[in-house]
Amino acid sequence: MSVLKINNVSKLFAGSVRAVDSFSLDVADGELVCLLGPSGSGKSTLLRMVGGFETPTGGQITIDGEDITRLPPEKRPTGMVFQSHALWTHMSVFKNLAFGLKLRRIPAAEIKRRVEGVLELVGLAGYGDRHVAKLSGGQQQRVALARSLVLEPKILLLDEPFASLDQHLRERLREEVRDIQQRLGITTLFVTHGQDEALSMADRIVVMRDGRTEQIDRPDVVYREPQTPFVAGFIGTMNLVEGTVKSGAFARGRFQVPLPVADGDATLAVRPESLDLVAADDGVAKVHRVTDYGTHGLVYLDLDDGTRLKAMVSHPDLFRNGQRFDLAPRELAAYRGS
Ligand code: ADP
Repeated sequence: MSVLKINNVSKLFAGSVRAVDSFSLDVADGELVCLLGPSGSGKSTLLRMVGGFETPTGGQITIDGEDITRLPPEKRPTGMVFQSHALWTHMSVFKNLAFGLKLRRIPAAEIKRRVEGVLELVGLAGYGDRHVAKLSGGQQQRVALARSLVLEPKILLLDEPFASLDQHLRERLREEVRDIQQRLGITTLFVTHGQDEALSMADRIVVMRDGRTEQIDRPDVVYREPQTPFVAGFIGTMNLVEGTVKSGAFARGRFQVPLPVADGDATLAVRPESLDLVAADDGVAKVHRVTDYGTHGLVYLDLDDGTRLKAMVSHPDLFRNGQRFDLAPRELAAYRGS
């Protein structure tokens, strides 16, 4: 059953910037949905409208059937974690967490119980007396998460919560947050422009572009079956080759692959891990560079007209600049037009 319903919501800022454009989404109970898209695609604005920090210019948002479109943030059953965590750094962890509960006139014993419970949940048991300013960036972000969770919201809203952390910490917190989210079964909307984050955490991904939905699907489906060239190019690494289909074959110069669709312009999309290389003296692609990543390698190849492609290989040491190969895609997608 869907808990959160975003129905045809738009946001037009002064100066007629259409940040969000007739956007609809149903989020099921306990689901984690990632809003993924480039900077300026409307992700934050959408999240802020769900949290009550922006008012939609059109459409409706409901939580458990109740229209919350125009309620102020504190009247909504939502908890938001911002990129800049906005904690009171001069106060103790306990005071930061207790603040919202005091406002709600929750008895002191209950506040203590809830704060201690949530600190344990985020891996900060015993940190109540510490000053926030003395904590590391990762610990501060855990406190920010705890501050939202302690209010027991129905919906958790996360706006690029790991953006300011280094890569290792980000990966660890990703796992932790996903774990906490699943243990609590809390419905979550998560904004990120990082595809790794979305692919590794989400039950479903909404790929956004210009305030609209480009595709909504499970991460594996978004990755394997991107519905548009935009999604194909945005998620993961993708070779996109423009060319022409004629009599059941796609061609760009000497590069040809069977493609049983009607004649016309087309864009071919092939993942580097799906592009096999077949050694041939007169092959259609010439190796430009080889990069060894330890676990795998990437071979960069150029077609005759300079179009560059990448192929993932398990033994990069077998490839040399200047060698020629024919290209054999094992899996591909094609889009009409170029
Ligand atoms: P994202 O989170 O995907 O980076 P945003 O939701 O922040 O995108 O912004 C979407 C669009 O709305 C951008 O063009 C941005 O400049 C514009 N925008 C965001 N907030 C405001 C605002 N307060 N006033 C005017 N324009 C805004």
